[in-house]
Amino acid sequence: AVLVAGSANLDFVVRASHVPRPGETVLGRGFVTAPGGKGANQAVACARAGGADTRMLLALGDDAFAQPIEQSLRDAGVRAHVVRSAALPTGTAFICIGDDAENAITVAPGANAALTEADLPPLDGVAWLLLQLETPLDVVAGYARAARAAGAKVALNAAPAQALPAELLAQVDLLIVNEGELAALAGDRGGIAAAAAALDVPCVAVTLGARGCLVRDGAKCHLQPAFAVAALDTTAAGDTFCGVLVAALAGGAALPEALRRACAASALACTRLGAQPSIPTRGEVDAFLRQ
Ligand code: ADP
Repeated sequence: AVLVAGSANLDFVVRASHVPRPGETVLGRGFVTAPGGKGANQAVACARAGGADTRMLLALGDDAFAQPIEQSLRDAGVRAHVVRSAALPTGTAFICIGDDAENAITVAPGANAALTEADLPPLDGVAWLLLQLETPLDVVAGYARAARAAGAKVALNAAPAQALPAELLAQVDLLIVNEGELAALAGDRGGIAAAAAALDVPCVAVTLGARGCLVRDGAKCHLQPAFAVAALDTTAAGDTFCGVLVAALAGGAALPEALRRACAASALACTRLGAQPSIPTRGEVDAFLRQ
């Protein structure tokens, strides 16, 4: 099984001609709410990818915003371990999407801050633990340590961008970052491959937006070009990539095939609005790859 431990939010999404600049007001259109949060998005992507049972540890408030999040996880087939916070509201995110598919996001973490090390469920049967950085950093590090000790592999999507303690990176088998997150971890090394090589992690996948993905696996580098699509909303593209990549690896796929599926699924996610509603199923990815 894959266990995802991390954030869940209810997203409030509005489209506009462009993302407002500081001090500017724009009239938007097409308001929707949709379940999101990096952790929950990745769990849904992992479950829809098939190949591995998916579980998720998350924290929610005792409020109405929690319900669509739990429903979306259930519908995707994720087994959820929910920590219910009485004091904090369910996490929310306020997302504006411009017609150029750019976005600007403000997150109110709420109950996501309530996860503690003691909440980690038993890890029997868990082959991979998938983590992000939208929950407290010391707790993320504790989960990584516990997973390693239990013999599970650890995948970390180091998003949002920040520097990380060496002892956390030392617990990571697979690091997934975009270019900004890579720069926050490795600094400017005069190139993506050099920056990925500077990190003391066995395998580093760097997502490059419409250019695809570069992976440094040991001493070897591998480029998976992106699939050409008309991008409408890139929200959850990175999360889809992470969930599908880990699902494929947990299901026994070799790295190049896992990367191809992750890039295909994330390209498809770019063609649809919203976080979890945009994440494709295994059948949709298979059909896209046959085109
Ligand atoms: P993040 O959203 O986390 O910054 P990226 O923008 O790098 O991540 O996107 C993650 C993955 O989604 C990329 O590696 C790529 O496979 C896919 N992707 C993103 N944008 C596009 C696009 N415009 N066309 C096709 N695929 C895309």
